[in-house]
Amino acid sequence: MKTLRQYISLIEAAESSCPLATKDIALNTKNRDFTQDKYNYGPLNVSEPGDYWEGVAEEWDTTVEAAKASNCGNCVAFDISPRMDKCMPGVTSDQDGRLGYCWMHHFKCHSARTCHTWAKGGPIDKDEVSMEWGERNEMAYAN
Ligand code: SF4
Repeated sequence: MKTLRQYISLIEAAESSCPLATKDIALNTKNRDFTQDKYNYGPLNVSEPGDYWEGVAEEWDTTVEAAKASNCGNCVAFDISPRMDKCMPGVTSDQDGRLGYCWMHHFKCHSARTCHTWAKGGPIDKDEVSMEWGERNEMAYAN
């Protein structure tokens, strides 16, 4: 059963044509944690990555440099379009990069991180392309 807050998030998302996870913190957290557990989304601390990038390089059978260059910031699913910026709850940039919306795993991800399902071709920076992803995903309203 949904909570009142979840119903409010649903209405906010529908009225603004934003993905539900940009309005529903619990859903965003759930999807992020799932992506961390299942697809190695990380590193947790971008400034202190430990051996995270070595692990990714090994998984992809490539160099650490190549692994670091394959991040959310240039992933095909990373949406930083103007309309998506309006869906974000506040400031999206920090010294390491910026937040965007991940259309593959449905949460707000950070450009300096990556995951095992990274795919070349991003970011999405045009509203029309963002809306196409939204329509294909039915704007990720349902959870
Ligand atoms: S699918 Fe792409 S945008 Fe989404 S978390 Fe993975 S690397 Fe980042």
